[in-house]
Amino acid sequence: MPISPPRAWAEIDLSALRENLRSAREAAGCEVMAVVKAGAYGHGLEEIAKVLASEQIAFFGVANVGEARRIADAGVETRIYLLGATWAEERPEIVARGWTPCISALDEARHFNDLAFMRGVRLKVHLSVDIGMGRGGFVADQLPEVIDELGGLPNLDIEGIGAHLPSADENEAQTHEQIAKYMAVLHSIGGPERFRWRHLCNSAGLLGYGQGDCNLTRPGLMLYGISPLPGHPVQLKNVMSLKSRVTLIRTLPAGHGVSYGSAFVTTKPTRVATIGIGYGDGYPRHVSGNGAEAFIRGRRFPLLGRVTMDQLMVDVSDSDVEEGDEVEMFGENIRVDEVAAKAGTIAWEILTGITPRVVRVYA
Ligand SMILES: *Cc1c(COP(=O)(O)O)cnc(C)c1O
Repeated sequence: MPISPPRAWAEIDLSALRENLRSAREAAGCEVMAVVKAGAYGHGLEEIAKVLASEQIAFFGVANVGEARRIADAGVETRIYLLGATWAEERPEIVARGWTPCISALDEARHFNDLAFMRGVRLKVHLSVDIGMGRGGFVADQLPEVIDELGGLPNLDIEGIGAHLPSADENEAQTHEQIAKYMAVLHSIGGPERFRWRHLCNSAGLLGYGQGDCNLTRPGLMLYGISPLPGHPVQLKNVMSLKSRVTLIRTLPAGHGVSYGSAFVTTKPTRVATIGIGYGDGYPRHVSGNGAEAFIRGRRFPLLGRVTMDQLMVDVSDSDVEEGDEVEMFGENIRVDEVAAKAGTIAWEILTGITPRVVRVYA
């Protein structure tokens, strides 16, 4: 143990990340836009982008120009795609640095066209189509007209078209309808060949449905080792393991409260281990009382009472657990989606919620 080890850290397995990319490619059978928004789902934006860039992916998908800047400034040359709408103030930089925006409104398109004209370039953009997500893009009926209008903007190269599935991990019938709708849109505006890039699928779409006329896919979650379709046979490798250590072990008498609100009270003498991690690290407080466990010395132990900001307590009665022992809160042995379910949320939120205090260790 180093002199002053972190109380909580996240081990990030980069070879697992590469393998998951390979699995995504195999399952999709087309090119990949790796979604690395929100600090690569909490795994560390620059580090993850460098590894994925070395695997020759077509694009990175990011949420905003701040993330685009961080990737580009890290020396990564892979094309960068902005997954959401942009503000006017952000657009000069987008044009100057050749990032690829998706277009949701004609005003936005005209502004990009003007900026590209001023720089003497033709900016590559993708059209965003709203097939039911309700978050951005043109609704299908507007598209023929929109396409005509865009044809009059000479400094825009409409090289791509994309849409987003809202329920690919929870509603099969609706998803099939939305995919059919998107394919119909493609054909109504000149056929898929008109666009260099056609994309639709997130991880769940990619695993559960075919690509249709698409030639690009946008996985996020599955790259980080979690399948959004729990029953799916795809083999993904765990990437992040959230770890901590036992800071203290005591035996409390029967009838003793543990943690805030004394929501748990011992019924017998109990060997209680205090672990150096809490909701201040992003381990969700909402698991309290819902059967969450910690993995120590090869087995699971139940959490007792509420998760506090920096510490939580575990029942290690009848075990040889010692102070200083390493603890896995999620990872190989307790998958993050199990923790998410016990916290009443989704794996995406847990991963992106791991706070900066947690040191990321890459291997
Ligand atoms: C976040 C996001 C994705 C990736 O979704 P996963 O479910 O994590 O695979 C793909 N496309 C868009 C537009 C997104 O916002």
